[in-house]
Amino acid sequence: MRKILGTAAVVLIGLAGIGAVVVFNRVTSFEVEPVTDDVHVIYNAIGGNVGVLRTELGAVVVDTMTFRLQGQQIRELAERLGGGPTQAIINTHYHRDHTHGNPAFAVGARFVATQRTRDYLMHWDSAYWDEDAAGTLPNQTFESSHEMQIGGKTVRSHHLGAGHTGGDLVVLFVEDRVLHAGDLLFHLQYPTIDIRGGGSAREWDATMDRMLELDFDSVIPGHGRVTDREGVVAFQRFLRELWREVEAAVAAGKSLEETLATVHLTEDGGYEARSIPFVMSRDRDSVIGRAYAEATGAIRAAPVPRSVSSRWDRGIAPGRNTASTAVTLEDRSS
Ligand SMILES: [Zn+2]
Repeated sequence: MRKILGTAAVVLIGLAGIGAVVVFNRVTSFEVEPVTDDVHVIYNAIGGNVGVLRTELGAVVVDTMTFRLQGQQIRELAERLGGGPTQAIINTHYHRDHTHGNPAFAVGARFVATQRTRDYLMHWDSAYWDEDAAGTLPNQTFESSHEMQIGGKTVRSHHLGAGHTGGDLVVLFVEDRVLHAGDLLFHLQYPTIDIRGGGSAREWDATMDRMLELDFDSVIPGHGRVTDREGVVAFQRFLRELWREVEAAVAAGKSLEETLATVHLTEDGGYEARSIPFVMSRDRDSVIGRAYAEATGAIRAAPVPRSVSSRWDRGIAPGRNTASTAVTLEDRSS
């Protein structure tokens, strides 16, 4: 009996080891694709797409994925692709799969985000951003637009309105005519709508109109492969159809179950469902459910947390668990 138990333990430890290796490989397997001579995208299944701009001085990096370990490898890759040391890091929004690699970059570097993204990170994700990580929070924030001239390149960030969250920015690499859209664009995948974090299915359509006013040819989505203006237009058609259908179902007094059963989407042809067990799911039902919750008022935007004088502003990181966590895991993923 003892021998059988011993064998079982060895087998279990072996399986756990294989599992850890599989997860490690997934987290650290990056695919790099050129978009132009000076712009590259870095893909990984467990993290939002990273954009890298090469300048005469070094790299500009947009988003940093989910883990510090990924951040380290992104930094090495980016500095190779981007022609030298990182000059700036831009976070498109506060979700962990776009920000948690930040601590791999140098404390004191230029970290750009909207003010709202910084507020969400500081108050809703405070346990992560303590101690040394606090030095890699966004330190250059803006409300509507921000421009940097770095090593012969122009980098413009814009907050275009509510969509995926209420604080998303998009980044235009002006000379290369490439836009990093963050999670305002999911390409051929179902999106999440972070209503508590200010996201809105109702507003997202108009936000996409403002995106299409920008001057770009290629676009890096937050999730999915690089696409073009037609990819943006197609996703906007999906959002428009989603809201129209769900709003009509709510107006007709339908329950969520009836809405899920009767709403007819046509613009999601070829869309891929994605899920990480216990963390998030992105599929037809989840996106309809979010739009339904918004239309009925079942979920509303949480007030933007702003402390008058936070300890961060005095350069002192708070200890763990000092701020309440008002968002769910699902909200903070993707
Ligand atoms: Zn996101």
